Amino acid sequence: MTAPLIDPFMRPISYLRVSVTDRCDFRCVYCMSENMTFLPKKELLTLEELDRLCTAFVDMGVEKLRITGGEPLVRRNIMQFFHGMSRHLESGALKELTLTTNGSQLTRFAKDLYAAGVRRVNVSLDTLDEEKFAKVTRWGRLPAVLRGIDAALEAGLRVKLNAVALKGFNEDELFSITEWCADRGVDLTWIEVMPMGDDIGSEMRLDQYWKLTDLRERLSDQYTVTDLPDSTGGPARYVRLEETGQRIGFITPLSHNFCESCNRVRLTCTGDLFMCLGQEDYADLRAPLRNHPGDDAALEAAIREAITHKPKGHDFDYSRQKADGKMMRHMSHTGG
Ligand code: SAM
Ligand code: SF4
Repeated sequence: MTAPLIDPFMRPISYLRVSVTDRCDFRCVYCMSENMTFLPKKELLTLEELDRLCTAFVDMGVEKLRITGGEPLVRRNIMQFFHGMSRHLESGALKELTLTTNGSQLTRFAKDLYAAGVRRVNVSLDTLDEEKFAKVTRWGRLPAVLRGIDAALEAGLRVKLNAVALKGFNEDELFSITEWCADRGVDLTWIEVMPMGDDIGSEMRLDQYWKLTDLRERLSDQYTVTDLPDSTGGPARYVRLEETGQRIGFITPLSHNFCESCNRVRLTCTGDLFMCLGQEDYADLRAPLRNHPGDDAALEAAIREAITHKPKGHDFDYSRQKADGKMMRHMSHTGG
């Protein structure tokens, strides 16, 4: 291992999120438009390039790797990449290999993911109502995802549901989703909707914005809600529901500033490294990767240089009743 990555604000970079594709078999309304134009294949990092890049990060102290997309499990031969990464788990350099998925392909891949060393998966699911599910994902079908979650649990994977809190959409499911998770031993995290993407419209996003402080308030109508101390350094805050013992997470990038403890960077499927989800600044790592096929020195230098540009924090702000600091990127590009 070489010297660890430390940013200008003395934050060690130990967590890399990697988007392995911009494609998806769903078209969630807050994430993609219905007619997406995807990147030409030559723009994408190959699986071998992704391996080389991730390995470079692991060599520089990244201990947690989260694979995301688009939908990571629709990338052709993606299991080859997971199996490749498992060597870093075996060596002890990597502490955790995990993924965020829409769940549609888990019946096919759950066992293989476990075999590659994955122990936890995040499944994005905003509603347990078939019709509403079809509406919010446009192309998704709930039964396939539910079968996927069952397959993951059977394979021994710990499952966490990520639900985007949407005003007037899943407010009425707050307790049914909570109970559903409790019954299955599935963790649950609520995410505030973020002002991402260009053609989906920031006004619509504002309408959909359901503040998690309000959601937490409502939970306390039915449960004793205890705040838990921050343990992850990430954007999630946790509470425990005393009656069920469940831990519920809240990811509030807009109403809670978590930047001071940020330990993560994000890599897109084209090799752009975003130092912050809420800033436009990125570094191209594909050029040093492709220009120096047999030698990682230039790549390592480019990564170290990029980390010196990690900003202190982001600028999202809904408080002035318009989506300020709105990013023109789609979430499927930076990988959520
Ligand atoms: N396709 C996979 C999935 O849906 O889990 C992984 C990629 S998806 C972009 C990652 C996460 O971003 C999902 O949990 C999704 O709900 C969330 N997401 C997408 N657009 C969002 C937005 N505008 N605001 C908040 N979360 C968003
Ligand atoms: Fe696909 Fe995930 Fe975006 Fe939904 S949130 S469109 S499943 S990438």
